[in-house]
Amino acid sequence: MRISVLALQGAFAEHRQMLRRLGVETFEVRQLSDWHQPKDALIIPGGESTVQLKLLRDLELLLPIRDAIMNGLPVFGTCAGLILLAKQVENESHERISTMDIEVKRNAYGRQSGSFITEAPFSGTTVPMSFIRAPYISHAHHGVEVLSEVDGKIVAAREDNQLVTAFHPELTDDLFVHSYFLQMIQHKL
Ligand code: GLN
Repeated sequence: MRISVLALQGAFAEHRQMLRRLGVETFEVRQLSDWHQPKDALIIPGGESTVQLKLLRDLELLLPIRDAIMNGLPVFGTCAGLILLAKQVENESHERISTMDIEVKRNAYGRQSGSFITEAPFSGTTVPMSFIRAPYISHAHHGVEVLSEVDGKIVAAREDNQLVTAFHPELTDDLFVHSYFLQMIQHKL
């Protein structure tokens, strides 16, 4: 198995480190020629979604990535990655990758409480969760499975080949969410 990690900006190195601990090979996608390498999945890291979106457009990666996801490539988006995958973002109308049928509120926790760590069940198992100026999912449409809620807000969900978390599992020690993603990929292979 070989997983591509979008490496334009943000916490991509931490995702690679988690997958290394799980014995999985990864490579960084920095330009279109990287993207053309064989791969079984994609990770879109947290960071700043507006910056990543601009780079995805400028580097002509946006449409090939969207097509691959629509054709079933497993994808895991964390935080900014979740925002990029959402079909709708409150108060924004421009297009992103926009493949997942969720509505998202950005910077949803306000500036004061912008970063915090908590624990909550993810698909039935309690995991540590690191939130950094995080979004939450304000609406999950039909066909989207809610995997985790914190204070009544949806913070992790799955729709077929797409997995998203508002928190950063790669900034904790816990490998559960990455293992869950590997299982998604294996069921597809
Ligand atoms: N606030 C960022 C955004 O809107 C996301 C923060 C993160 O990825 N940790 O893109």
